[in-house]
Amino acid sequence: MNYNHRVRTEILRADDPGIVRAAEVIRSGGLVAFPTETVYGLGADALNEDAVRKVFIAKERPRDDPLIVHIARAQQLALLARHIPPRAWNLAERFWPGPLTLVLPKTERVPAVTTGGLDTVAVRAPAHPVAKKLIERSGCPIAAPSANRFGRPSPTTAQHVVEDLDGRIDLILDGGPTAIGVESTVLDLTQEPPMILRPGGVTLEELQEVMGEVRLLNSSDSEAAKRSPGTRWRHYAPRAKLILAEPAELEKIVTRLQERGQRIGVMVRQGRLLCSPAPSVLSVIPMPSALSEYARRLFAALRELDAQGVDVIVVEKIEERGLGRAIMDRLRRAGGPEGT
Ligand code: AMP
Ligand code: MG
Repeated sequence: MNYNHRVRTEILRADDPGIVRAAEVIRSGGLVAFPTETVYGLGADALNEDAVRKVFIAKERPRDDPLIVHIARAQQLALLARHIPPRAWNLAERFWPGPLTLVLPKTERVPAVTTGGLDTVAVRAPAHPVAKKLIERSGCPIAAPSANRFGRPSPTTAQHVVEDLDGRIDLILDGGPTAIGVESTVLDLTQEPPMILRPGGVTLEELQEVMGEVRLLNSSDSEAAKRSPGTRWRHYAPRAKLILAEPAELEKIVTRLQERGQRIGVMVRQGRLLCSPAPSVLSVIPMPSALSEYARRLFAALRELDAQGVDVIVVEKIEERGLGRAIMDRLRRAGGPEGT
């Protein structure tokens, strides 16, 4: 898709005057990128169809990929969702504000464009003070997918937003790097037992503690496409090809790629740096051992390697527990094969 509407994108510090200006833009149907505790979001008035349409255009996002609607307080859920089960209130009490998105049947007030034509709506209350103030000030729920171009690694700094959306949106609020670094967990409460459609900032283990049985959608399953349209496509992807390597295989894979003359970027946990990277290894990014820090660094590392012009990024696999599930989910999608 060619993008040919250029607008002047204002960049402001995410202080009070910046937030006041951003709220005006949202109220008048414009687009604002703002920090949340997960990644930067691209916000529009969730109840204004024209504004929401612009989000899809700016991101070049398929129209049937639904947006998450952000609210400032749990009580606003009643505006957006019908049949709110007691379980939803319990989860909101325990995890909001925070990186948990709940999927519930939508009310008439939520336009179909916002939900990609689905009769359910995904809602969360973010914890970032800038996001909270912006929603309060705007006086409306804010639909906000990640503020990247569709398919690219999610933005964790205002600079990443500039790279992808400068000239396409009205305003960027710069609130520094985001704390969590991967998106929210999307939990579908319209089925029994509830199902995680996308692993994220709240872990399966934490949800199980509160709710007992929780299923995890297997995204290679064709059911995935129906339940969570956003899991269908190649996503979060750098321009370079991405290969996930077992720790024991890493050196062998790098050597084989070197023999083929590929320019290589490598992401390995600290303490496991390659002994003597050959000249064709352009960059070795040491990734933190702690999963929370790894998540924070993930998307920026992919963007950095892309900027260096590598052909292939080799990433050491990590353990799939806790936040490791969300990280491995993003890495798998970044590597394809879906939609490549
Ligand atoms: P993003 O806003 O880019 O973080 O992506 C939001 C993702 O949440 C979508 O791609 C979907 O996979 C999921 N999602 C949003 N709304 C719904 C919904 N009503 N039902 C199921 N999944 C949803
Ligand atoms: Mg996204």
